[in-house]
Amino acid sequence: MFDALVVNKDEESGKTSAAVTQLGLDDLPAGEVTVAVEYSTVNYKDGLCIGPGGGLVRKYPHVPGIDFAGTVEASDDDRYKAGDKVVLTGWRVGEAHWGGYAQKARVKADWLVPLPSGLDTRQAMAVGTAGFTAMLAVMALEDHGIKAGPVLVTGAAGGVGSVATAILANLGYKVAGVTGRPETADYLTSLGATQIVAREEINETTKRPLEGETWGGCVDAVGGAMLARVLGQMEYGASVAAVGLAGGAGLPATVIPFLLRGVNLLGIDSVMQPYDNRVRAWERISKDLPMDKLEAMIQPATLSDLPKLGADILKGQVKGRVVVDVN
Ligand code: NDP
Repeated sequence: MFDALVVNKDEESGKTSAAVTQLGLDDLPAGEVTVAVEYSTVNYKDGLCIGPGGGLVRKYPHVPGIDFAGTVEASDDDRYKAGDKVVLTGWRVGEAHWGGYAQKARVKADWLVPLPSGLDTRQAMAVGTAGFTAMLAVMALEDHGIKAGPVLVTGAAGGVGSVATAILANLGYKVAGVTGRPETADYLTSLGATQIVAREEINETTKRPLEGETWGGCVDAVGGAMLARVLGQMEYGASVAAVGLAGGAGLPATVIPFLLRGVNLLGIDSVMQPYDNRVRAWERISKDLPMDKLEAMIQPATLSDLPKLGADILKGQVKGRVVVDVN
């Protein structure tokens, strides 16, 4: 028997409830590899899957947790054997499939990546889907060329934003962090941000489709009106990596920044990334993300903390990265 955070749905009221429950190995879904999970984390999607579902969860009872790191316990696939350390992000694990909020998980071998050298399982989940996606965003900006101005990071004190800030600063870029929480300014500066931009300054729509050419690149975790505004503030030929929708899924923008300034809007998806690019991103993380900065982002948690943390992340109240020790 092992512990898992199980979410149930009351069919009459439609309400969900989550509680730590004992499960057996036979309860786990089918899959080639059984993993003894060591750490998981809390992403925005986890908040939805622990709570209201957000249209992501297919079937109840459900074990959320969109990412995990641990040790292979049993494998029917030649690529993995008992004792191997592995990481999983994406593939709709924790949404359509049972995920990492349990001491055991059973998944497809195709979904796993060997633990990158230079990281332990705790550090891998301090990075988690949020940090992995931040790295994908930085790689996309690099592929399209980062211009001379500071790189803007929106939702800077959140998971994606914290990791993007630390990586970009370590690579030598000037980083401007947008935050709605002024009290996180010291934290963001400690991660390497050289400029703090108040959310209100950039959150409002403007009638001007173009403003001053300010930013040499942008990692955007917020979307909505903020992304629309940022597009008009990019330098000529600069790129915005669109990662998230913490501020809304709409995009009340004009095409003028694309047509007159050659601005690029780059879509970033972490869920279906091909294996080779996953390995490339994890290698870059172990090289370009300073581990002391990662350590400063960590808030430790256990399975029983998850219902509260899930609600907190939906309200934008989690700072940095939560690391869940499932044992
Ligand atoms: P967090 O909650 O940790 O961070 C989001 C941050 O956005 C908050 O901390 C806050 O930062 C800011 N924010 C929250 N609400 C608003 C608002 N209404 N207006 C403006 N800013 C706001 O989440 P993550 O970092 O884990 O994820 C960020 C986004 O990226 C989410 O939308 C998530 O779904 C998405 N995502 C997408 C992935 C992909 O594959 N494309 C993968 C992973 C995440 P502050 O307090 O500093 O302002």
